[in-house]
Amino acid sequence: MSQGNIQKDAAVSSSTVAAAAATPAAKGNLYSVMQAQLDKAAKFMSLSPDVYTILSQPKNEVIINFPVRMDDGRYLLFKGYRVQHNNILGPYKGGIRYHEDVSLDELKGLSAAMTWKSALHDIPFGGGKGGIKFNPRLHSKSELERITRRYTHALGQNIGPEFDIPAPDVGTNEQVMAWMMDTYSNHVGYICPGVVTGKPIAVGGSQGRREATGAGVAYLVGKYLEDMKCPVREATVALQGFGNVGSETALALAEMGAKIVAISDYTGGVHNPAGIDIRKALAYLQSERVLKDFGGGSPVTNEQLLELPCTVLIPAALERVITPENAPKLRCRLLAEAANGPTTNAADRIIEERGDIEVIPDVLCNSGGVIVSYFEWLQNQQSFYWGRDEVISKLHAILDKAKESVEYQKRKFKFSRRLAALTLGIGRVAEAKQKRGLFP
Ligand code: GLU
Repeated sequence: MSQGNIQKDAAVSSSTVAAAAATPAAKGNLYSVMQAQLDKAAKFMSLSPDVYTILSQPKNEVIINFPVRMDDGRYLLFKGYRVQHNNILGPYKGGIRYHEDVSLDELKGLSAAMTWKSALHDIPFGGGKGGIKFNPRLHSKSELERITRRYTHALGQNIGPEFDIPAPDVGTNEQVMAWMMDTYSNHVGYICPGVVTGKPIAVGGSQGRREATGAGVAYLVGKYLEDMKCPVREATVALQGFGNVGSETALALAEMGAKIVAISDYTGGVHNPAGIDIRKALAYLQSERVLKDFGGGSPVTNEQLLELPCTVLIPAALERVITPENAPKLRCRLLAEAANGPTTNAADRIIEERGDIEVIPDVLCNSGGVIVSYFEWLQNQQSFYWGRDEVISKLHAILDKAKESVEYQKRKFKFSRRLAALTLGIGRVAEAKQKRGLFP
């Protein structure tokens, strides 16, 4: 057992609900959410204090301010980040986020989650996360290209195929990755596709990468519904967030026969107990760019969506949306965390106490993206490309193995599924650190 002495005392205080609701800062910032998760896991694993010290802060925090010329000739100054949490198991790995709420604390939390996620799936990567604090929707394509290239230039040797490998995240996509790859390749003087993953197939991307996160979420939801003896054809799904992850998850679940009863994006959502035509919603999004006024049901806000009756609730947008306020009101049987960190710690305790909701924690649920990123990087390193079926069957094999280990850990130590996943991931990092020792 790599994670040392696991303690069995996983009891939750009976006053959790009242205490959580009374705490004004219960939502915390994402770093404090992740820090509390590490603290809890460390306690249950009796993690060595030395390893805990190392894991409680990222190794590197890169902050850059860089000017970019706008289409009208003005210069704007942007703040970009790359947080490198840990690289004991391999190069730092994780997405680049373009969003106005990007902050150092958020990225510190997200980068730690990437370390546990890679380790949980036995992928030889560490964890990182980066981003730029701005709203990409307010910029033209040519401005986005200049912002991306200037950011990549400013990152310099802080990224690289053997050192730190970015990927898409909230607000970025394949095109952004192609610009990053091209800028980096021009710097080093040779084509270097492996510096980023999530690229278009035309420039070294992998089959199946674009839909990988959503496909992984849908696959695991199907597996857990099976365990719960609930046929996927009888399941109803409410899904918050209709970006790459949300829309691909919705499509995959609809294809598996589930009924998608609610969807939303940042402009609001729609609820239809009879089911929503996801292809129609996607076509609408393509022409209108937002779901607002899509119709096809009654309008709901993002907050209302979370409390709708459904079999599966899937937060697939931003973090900390399941709070102590709405956790007691959730009406789902399965909570599938497609977003990173969607549940605050206080809300998590409430859900655990309720005992009537199965949770697929983020580090397990949304790992399809980083798993196929790993496949993409491997294909880039070998300059040998796989077919889609091979990618998908290898993805399923890794997800099956991770699910099995998490369920084993959960049963053995009577842990929540989140604690089981975290202790497995953190345990693997800790074991490697202990074996390698401290330099010098
Ligand atoms: N941004 C995704 C995540 O949070 C993908 C990361 C990657 O592929 O490196 O898992």
